[in-house]
Amino acid sequence: MKIPGQRVLAYLWPYRYPFLAALGQVFLMSLFELAKPWPLKVVIDNVLAGKPLPLQAVSSWPAQTLLIAACSALVLIYLLLGGLTVLNNFTTIRIGQRMVNDLRSDLYTHLQRLSLAFHSRHQVGDLLYRVTADTYAIQTLTMNGLFPILSALVLLVGMFFVMVRLDWQLTLLALGVCPILFFSISFMGARISAAATQAREQESAVYSIVQRAMSAIRVIQAFTKEEEEHRAFMSASHRSLAASLRLYTLQTLYSGVVNVVIAVGTAVVVWVGARHVLSGQLTVGEIVVFTSYLASLYGPINSISQTWGLIQGASAGVRRVFEILEVEKGLADGSRTFPSQGARGDVSIENVSFHYVPGQPVLKNLSLRVLPGQTVAIVGPTGAGKSTLVSLLPRFYDPQEGRVTIDGIDVREFVLKDLRRQISMVLQPPLVFPISVAENIAYGRPGASRQDIVQAAKLARIHDTIERLPQGYDTVVGEQGATLSEGERQRLTIARAILRNAPILILDEPTSSVDAETEALIMEGLRKLTQGRTTFIIAHRLSTVRQADRIVVLRDGRIVEEGKFEDLMQKEGPFALLYRTQFSL
Ligand code: ADP
Repeated sequence: MKIPGQRVLAYLWPYRYPFLAALGQVFLMSLFELAKPWPLKVVIDNVLAGKPLPLQAVSSWPAQTLLIAACSALVLIYLLLGGLTVLNNFTTIRIGQRMVNDLRSDLYTHLQRLSLAFHSRHQVGDLLYRVTADTYAIQTLTMNGLFPILSALVLLVGMFFVMVRLDWQLTLLALGVCPILFFSISFMGARISAAATQAREQESAVYSIVQRAMSAIRVIQAFTKEEEEHRAFMSASHRSLAASLRLYTLQTLYSGVVNVVIAVGTAVVVWVGARHVLSGQLTVGEIVVFTSYLASLYGPINSISQTWGLIQGASAGVRRVFEILEVEKGLADGSRTFPSQGARGDVSIENVSFHYVPGQPVLKNLSLRVLPGQTVAIVGPTGAGKSTLVSLLPRFYDPQEGRVTIDGIDVREFVLKDLRRQISMVLQPPLVFPISVAENIAYGRPGASRQDIVQAAKLARIHDTIERLPQGYDTVVGEQGATLSEGERQRLTIARAILRNAPILILDEPTSSVDAETEALIMEGLRKLTQGRTTFIIAHRLSTVRQADRIVVLRDGRIVEEGKFEDLMQKEGPFALLYRTQFSL
């Protein structure tokens, strides 16, 4: 993938005015840079050698005054140049940082909207690296990269004009080095770019490993896999170091080659230049200006070549960012909305087929109708497709064939946000954020009153537990020993779903059995929750299955049986078999 230059420019566009100001600063800086050797030339040619200055206004000045003026000018030039440099750095860095910020914001928003299908393919650590580190590349690319090159170019052009007027032969010789330099630049640039991409990939692999290990730290410690994980980390870290070392080596090798080319050019120019002075073609003052330009002529070229390496590295980063930004959101948003009182909750799944991986169907031509307010228990062996089936409702995935409707309308026709507002989910494992208990409960309905939060907590039978926490509802989960048990987390997420108050409910029951007392508490909270709502429960408990209006048995992506508990038990079919193996203890 090429760097989309247009897209990079689009990020620069909001800052075009400060950018223009920065360009102006660069021009001024180049002028001062060009003026640097001139006071010395005046001192040598006009003060010491006594030649008259071509300027009328100062030609009558006594030598002493001229000397003071030249020396003051020298100080002034450096002073102004220094001041401008500070100002220019400030301007360019500020523009760069704002661009990074904008890019990050876009990337973050985009990542949150990308489908679960995308997220199941990508490592969190890699995405983390792209958001935090790779985004900096846009600053490097436009500011740290562009500006040195630009100011170098302006300076080169300025020097060229001044030098041509002093000695055109010498100027041509000096510039003869440029093509050789640019050839080496493009030759090695490609290699450096490849090495830079590799270094970034290896570095983000290290992030991924750390992220994976930290999120599974419990398992790692339980199975005493610390050393193996450490080894995996170290080998990724070594690969990353090796890649950066290769990159640095290439970069320094590159500067080395450039420096040698420059040295050869300098030697040639000095040799010819000295002969021109000897033959009287140049004055002593002019050769001072010339040699001092000569010394700084290669500065800009050198900086172009070094910046080139930087730009190659940065393009790799920018490319990695745009790669993600270019991933289609996957789910096209619809335009219909639900009436303000919400959906009725008539859910129909019609001839749905779905696969994650082509050729491996997970749901096969499956149909299911659930009337408003009904509770359906979905049972079946692991891998039957239960979670996949319910994730079609909020459009975590879209089926490849068939359709899912709510109140008779295809879910794809709704505004995604409005669709998801109709659905409340209690998922496994119960996810609790490290924020206050009250905020956790109000996660799906920010701005809910404390009264409503407490009411939801009471219904979910978690109120008393919360009251016992150090700061009650304001206790931050996970802080000061305020850890919650699995059952308590469960009830907290139920309270969250109650407060969200959506007409459709999706529940994933935990498989690990909690004790009888907690189970009774949870069931009671659930009963309250499911009243009057269309409910899908991926059921693992006998009590849940019994209470459901209907039981749907799923196997290999198909419904193999459905009906009421008693009827299914009498039929001695797949459910009865499942009942004996899974539900009866
Ligand atoms: P259940 O909830 O009944 O245990 P799932 O719906 O989770 O079943 O999974 C059904 C099948 O789909 C399984 O074979 C599982 O491996 C596969 N599967 C689930 N999620 C993904 C995914 N994100 N990518 C690829 N395959 C998946």
